[in-house]
Order: sequence, then structure tokens, then C-alpha cells
Amino acid sequence: MVPPPATGMHELLEQLDVLEKTANLSQSIADVQNVIDLLTTARDKIAADPQTAPLTLAKLQDPVKKSLEQAQKDIKPIYSGLNKYAKALDRKFKDKPIPPASNDALSSHPKLVNRAIAMHLLREGEFSVASTFVEESNRNPPRPEPTPGTPNPALDDSWEKDLAEVIFNSEKLQSHFKEMYHILHELRQERNLEPAIQWARERSDLLEARGSNLEFELCRLQFVCLFATQGRDDDNDASMEEDPRGLLAAYEYARREFAHFKGRYAHEIQQLICAMAYWQNVVDSPYRRYFYNNSAWEEVATSFTREFCSLLGLSADSPLYIAATAGTIALPHLLKLQNIMEKTRTEWTTQNELPVEIPLPPSYHFHSIFVCPVSKEQSTDSNPPMMLPCGHVIAQESLERLSKGTRFKCPYCPTESQPRDARRVRL
Ligand SMILES: [Zn+2]
Repeated sequence: MVPPPATGMHELLEQLDVLEKTANLSQSIADVQNVIDLLTTARDKIAADPQTAPLTLAKLQDPVKKSLEQAQKDIKPIYSGLNKYAKALDRKFKDKPIPPASNDALSSHPKLVNRAIAMHLLREGEFSVASTFVEESNRNPPRPEPTPGTPNPALDDSWEKDLAEVIFNSEKLQSHFKEMYHILHELRQERNLEPAIQWARERSDLLEARGSNLEFELCRLQFVCLFATQGRDDDNDASMEEDPRGLLAAYEYARREFAHFKGRYAHEIQQLICAMAYWQNVVDSPYRRYFYNNSAWEEVATSFTREFCSLLGLSADSPLYIAATAGTIALPHLLKLQNIMEKTRTEWTTQNELPVEIPLPPSYHFHSIFVCPVSKEQSTDSNPPMMLPCGHVIAQESLERLSKGTRFKCPYCPTESQPRDARRVRL
């Protein structure tokens, strides 16, 4: 039996494995460091006593040559590994042309592109890279290029400028993100809830108005931590089963902090208090999920990031990351479309809409859209969805075409109605 050929992805992973095992730069770095050490020692020697210069330099030649040769030798497997990997990459990802720039909607908005990049860097916590980027793009302002949709990009860029300024002059935004990263660091690395609780408490009203549970989630985790860990730290022999100090600390905490959550979270608080009755054996209690939840810290960190960003008027994920990911998913579809359009000699006529549907994952669906079942067109502000008295919904233009202003029959059921009885649906 012939073994199946290694699939592209499998071969890539294999090569990557080889690369990681053999192509280790640490040896080469040590070689180079060796040369640097030889040179600096010689320099110090000559500086201390210039008379020794000829002898020191002569003595230096041989070891330096040898070290450099060693460096060359050690770096060879890295080159050949990279070479093989590159070839495997080429085999897997055949060179395909990317769609032409004729439908490029972004080259007329370089300021927005720069804004997205700067924003992304800030949101990733790369503050120094972000400020270098901002500084350099201020020094060399981008020049928008005309595209079919925006023939005079320099003319109407005032809103764009305003939007870009917000970030490019914003030290404040940077300090906001610094605060966010500080709190996230305390949460994830230090397992310290205090700064996050403090932050949420100061914005209690705003968070509550948004329907956020963040403050309570943080305090609940604090309660769980006190319950489960105190009494173990200083005395390793005493486990939670024997030592009630954790229980007492948690009880104290609940009495002090849970009062102002009573209105919204009465049920959750009841559960936490009931769990105390099982303090010697929480694992087997119905409340286990509160106390043995490995992802609890990550959950509050994600929840915190989301609330922090939304109070700044930003989405929780970097828009640049989302756009790039969605674009990567869309690319194969657009290439296929381009092929079809070339063969059938058709053109992409809709300016602000993609002519094909792109299957994005549910987390990438941000707005509900309506596609008219009659015309198959996506609804717009000028062609909104309209609900007929029978409950069926079609686009306004389809309604006008079907009814011609008089009584007409719904295309999906036998109900007849007047066009004026249809009501606009807002999504
Ligand atoms: Zn109907």
C-alpha cells in the first residue's frame, strides 16, 4: 500500500518542528559574543598601555578569525532550515495574485489607516512603538490617492482629519491604556483584584447603566479567593477542610461588600452564602462551579477589558485585527469572484457593498442585516425593510413595485393590503 502523500499543512508543521529543533540562534549569538569579548578585552588592554598595541593586535588575529569561522559554521543549519521551510511554504501556498487595486477603498484614506495602526499598537500596549509611529506619520503626512469612489480625496477629508487628530494628539488615550494594562497585569499575573475593583467602583453608575455585571463579578471572585485560599498560605498542613479562617474572612467580606449588590444580585449572593454551609466539602456541593472554575480569572479579565474599552467608546477587540482577519477570510472568495468576473466580462458595480456573501464566524456579525426575499437586495436607509400587515417583510422598493400604489397581495401569503399599511422595520 502506498502511504498517502504528506498534505501541505502536515509538511509545514514537520518543517517547523525541524527548524525549532535545529535552527537555534543561541549558539551563533554565543559565537558573536565571544568575538565582541575578545575585541573589548584587547581595546581595554591597549587603552591601558598603548605600547602593547602591536603585540595585542597580532595576538588578536588568530582567535578572532577562528571565532568568526565558528559563527559561520554554526549559522549554516539555520540557513538551510529556513531555506527548506520557505520551500515548504511555497509549495503549500501557491503564489496567487491578490485582487487588483481598482476596488481599493482605503488608499484614499491613508489617515484612517494610520489611525487604525496607531490605535492597534496602543491597544496592544506597545506604547513606545505607537508614539514613534505617531511621531513619524506626523512628520510625513500621508498623501491620499484618488480612487474611482473618491476621485478627490483631499477635498472632503475634514471629518477624517478630526477623527485622526483624536488619536494623534492624544496623550490621554495612552495614559488610559496604561491604566488598563496595569489593572490587567495585576489580574492575570498577580491575581490581585483590588485595582480592578477600585476602578469598577469609581464607575459604578456608568457600569450599571450599561447593564454590566463587572463590579459584582470581581467582588464575587474576591469572595471565592478569600474562602478558598486564606489559612493555607502560612500553614501548609491546614487545608480548607480543617481551617475555618478562609470561611470567616469570606463571611466578613460578604457582610462588608455585598450589601449594595443585594438589589440586582440577590440570587447569586444567596448561592454564595449557602455555599458556606459546605465549607468543609465544597467540591461535592452544588456550588462547586463557583469555587473550582479555572477560567474565572480570564473571564473577569476579558469582562474588564470589554467594559474599559466601551467606556472609552471603543470596541473590546482592535478594529484593525478584526478587519485584517475578516479580510483574510474574504480573500479567497474575492479571488474567485474576480475570476468569474473576468470570464463573464462583468463589473463590480456596487460601491459600498461586496457583491458576494462572505461567510464570517458569528463573533464577526456586528449588525443585523435584512435581505429582501423578493429582490435579494440588502436593505439600506433609502430602501428600508417594510412589514406588511400579515407580518411578512420585504424591501420598500419591492413593495412599491408589487403594489404600484394600490391594494396588492403579499408575495408570501394570500393576505391583501394597502401599501400605506406597511410599516418600516428598524434593525
Ligand atoms: Zn404575507
